[in-house]
Amino acid sequence: MAEADLPVIKLIDMHDVFHDADAPAALQEALVNSDAATATATHCPYCALQCGMNVVHDETGWSIEARDFPTNRGGLCRKGWTAATLLNKSDRLLGPLLRDHKDAPLRPASWDEALDRIANGIRAIQAAAGPDAVAVFGGGGLTNEKAYALGKFARVALRTANIDYNGRFCMASSAAAGLRAFGIDRGMPFPLADIAGADCVLLTGGNPAETMPPIMQWFDEGRARGAQLIVSDPRRTATARAATLHLPLTPGTDAALANGLLHVAVARRLIDVDYIEARTIGWDRVRRAVASYWPDRVERITGVPARDVERAAVLLGEAAKALILSGRGSEQQSHGVDNGLAFINLALALGLPGRPGSGWGCMTGQGNGQGGREHGQKADQLPGYRLLANPVHRAEVAAVWGIAPESLPQPGLSACEMLAATGGEGAQVRGLLVFACNLLVSAPDAATLRARLASMDLLVVADPFLSETAAIADVVLPVAQWAEEDGTMTNLEGRVLLRRKAKAPPPGVWTDLQVIAALAGRLGAGAHFSGDEATTGAEFRRATSGGPADYAGATWDHIQDEAGVFWPCPDAAHPGTPRLFNERFAHPDGLARFHPIEHVGSAETPCDDYPLILTTGRVMGQYQTGTQTRRVPELAAAEPGAFAELHPDTARQHGIQAGDAVRLTTRRGTARMAARLTRDIRRDTVFVPFHWGGEGSANQLTIAALDPVSRIPEYKACAVRLDRAAPLSGD
Ligand code: SF4
Repeated sequence: MAEADLPVIKLIDMHDVFHDADAPAALQEALVNSDAATATATHCPYCALQCGMNVVHDETGWSIEARDFPTNRGGLCRKGWTAATLLNKSDRLLGPLLRDHKDAPLRPASWDEALDRIANGIRAIQAAAGPDAVAVFGGGGLTNEKAYALGKFARVALRTANIDYNGRFCMASSAAAGLRAFGIDRGMPFPLADIAGADCVLLTGGNPAETMPPIMQWFDEGRARGAQLIVSDPRRTATARAATLHLPLTPGTDAALANGLLHVAVARRLIDVDYIEARTIGWDRVRRAVASYWPDRVERITGVPARDVERAAVLLGEAAKALILSGRGSEQQSHGVDNGLAFINLALALGLPGRPGSGWGCMTGQGNGQGGREHGQKADQLPGYRLLANPVHRAEVAAVWGIAPESLPQPGLSACEMLAATGGEGAQVRGLLVFACNLLVSAPDAATLRARLASMDLLVVADPFLSETAAIADVVLPVAQWAEEDGTMTNLEGRVLLRRKAKAPPPGVWTDLQVIAALAGRLGAGAHFSGDEATTGAEFRRATSGGPADYAGATWDHIQDEAGVFWPCPDAAHPGTPRLFNERFAHPDGLARFHPIEHVGSAETPCDDYPLILTTGRVMGQYQTGTQTRRVPELAAAEPGAFAELHPDTARQHGIQAGDAVRLTTRRGTARMAARLTRDIRRDTVFVPFHWGGEGSANQLTIAALDPVSRIPEYKACAVRLDRAAPLSGD
């Protein structure tokens, strides 16, 4: 589509967001009149560590206290400490908004008008193009109950096959690798305490010292006992600086590194032959596959010195208790599943999974990234990690929902494929309902996506704030945020937690569950949706009963009694399951699977026109797309905007000095930001955090090349050109 053909999106003046000029005062009144207890024991609104905190209300307003909980043991990061700011934000959406036509600005509307507009739009699109022409996009920040209700809404009310969520951008590769190797995906199949007890931890592509700092106490406890930490990362991050050994690999070469480590483990007879014999199948093919990954060759592919490949394999292989933990660095690649499987091969050959205190795990990032991928907002999935393609699973869930199994759609498009199918007239997907996701900042190749979304027949966004994506929507629905509703979350350990409501939502704001129920009612399926948290929770647990991710016993009382309950938990008398695989894996024969993996390069590699590698990630002071954290003054002051992290030698070659404005150009777009120089990054690599939109948007640059299994986009490696640019505004 040519730029001239794009519809003009008029952004709203924030004065128009509120029904009247006194709306911020109305928000304050709602806060003061809240009937919340003075301190509500709950959890952080952000990442998957889900630190325990108290939301406190007194005469000075709202504040946060750290709470002693098994994950954070009283620690919080700066994001958690400042989370109460979100409860007082004056730019909170306090009523629905809609635009009368594509060229019109957003204007305030009543809930009836907004919901009628959406329902009429859905009916018109589906009448013209079929049920699958309306799609739903969910988020890994939604509670389990909301993720469940959204999946049910798509299949029962919309009858569309097309629902997916932004976890597809995050943990999908490790989830797929875990399913293939172990028969089940629970990111960490052991509690965090095992990190402190391990003698060696290999962390592949994660930087928890910045992304979830309180978790470092578990690593620190181990290191104080003399445990070794090995970190593979193109950057010498805060986590890598705390490690015994840093493996600074070229972005996109993780599988070669894993194969090299396994090659050394075989050569040095560090593998556990008895374990391989008793608990796995497929070893011979993997042993043959890694035979050619001798350390010198791995050095040529990855850039990691051969002696460090040897040393890492020995540290890991000689440890009595060892863990391999995966982060987004090795996962967000067009071969992310292969990377996960290659490191799982290493773990299985060393006999780690299921051995007490040892194992392989994925450190999930989003607040409910784990629960959000278990209960039906994925394209192929039904609640309890059941599958739409499985006739038995379809019948089980249909019985709970009171519908015929054959009325359930088949699996639909995955996230990026769904977004690629959006657009205007003639597009496969013509209407999109987005919950808890800021796609224009988080999705790859964001400029192309913006054009697609802007030309849709109907784009609806439900969000507490006017995100970049909400700003181009046809209808915006203001919804409750974290401390304004009850619900369960599942943290990175598979521990199901209870997030408690500390206050009522402001007047004019609905919960997502209320929105889903109201829309279902207008579409003739209202009898299937309560809109109520406790009722939805009870039904949700029933729908998971007997499934691979069984939450039937994770009642709110049980969760509170036990400081969270690890799934599977089939009944309320069950203690939960902190550790999986002690005796068997989840495949029918109880055995884990090896998968032979070969190194394959990234979809895009450097060339004369784009000679460097762009990799993206996060910084300590911001969370995901920044819709929440960019609104917190302390966090905005600490990290006010995007930057390009460069090695000083790379900067010198381009005539760039620290603080200069630089232009980054890929085959998809251009971004401009300030240069930050550090010797802690490879000379061939540029790092950009992705938390911002506008001219510093990292995802204007990234490529939508997808892993063939997980369909995760390749955020961690694409070819980029670097130039000095005109000074940034404000310089
Ligand atoms: Fe804890 Fe993560 Fe919240 Fe920080 S952002 S306080 S690490 S849950």
